[in-house]
Amino acid sequence: MKICGSLLTVLLFTLFITADISWAWQGKVVKINDGDSIEVLHDGIAEKIRLYGIDCPEKQQDFGQKAKEFTSDRVFSKIVDVDPVVKDRYGRTVGIVYQGSRRSLNEDLVNNGYAWVYPQYCDRSQCREWTKQEKEAKARKTGLWAMNSPLPPWNFRRNKGKDSSHWPTSDSRQNGTYHGNVSSGIFHKPGCKGYYCANCNAFFATRNEALAAGYKPCGFCRP
Ligand SMILES: [Zn+2]
Repeated sequence: MKICGSLLTVLLFTLFITADISWAWQGKVVKINDGDSIEVLHDGIAEKIRLYGIDCPEKQQDFGQKAKEFTSDRVFSKIVDVDPVVKDRYGRTVGIVYQGSRRSLNEDLVNNGYAWVYPQYCDRSQCREWTKQEKEAKARKTGLWAMNSPLPPWNFRRNKGKDSSHWPTSDSRQNGTYHGNVSSGIFHKPGCKGYYCANCNAFFATRNEALAAGYKPCGFCRP
């Protein structure tokens, strides 16, 4: 009976873990929208990918075009691996893109001075290394760091009154008490390990609201 119980725990735990993982996938890059925004074929459909944790200068800003060219030279028409991290509020995949065994495109853009690390949205372990590389790019005056006081794109967008054009606002992630996983259809309450899962992009003020939307309560936090 005791063995049975622990097996069940292991099984439930495994189910819980796998429910929140988005697997990496591979596809051909068919379009470059921006330095930090590309389209990759996924099961025959072009899927928009916003590069995670970084922000390239906007097209109207200095180095915006160069950042786009850099991304294009690096991955256009190539097969890449997409590691999805989160979905933004438009349902767009935000992820890390790899091509071959080289470092990620995200990191490469930072390293070559074509992107800022976006501190507000960079919370993975890699971000520390990326921030270090940003400092080094600054010290070398590489890319946009050759300019005297480059304006971070998020400030540029805010000045133009259209910030967060492609990012979830910080309150959109906290708006509501319950977080629903749009992929598994399971919702969590605060404090649960699954509360900030990659696909937790549905927000509900009440438990009933989540249930009414067809979400099922998580078996661990029992919301
Ligand atoms: Zn939960």
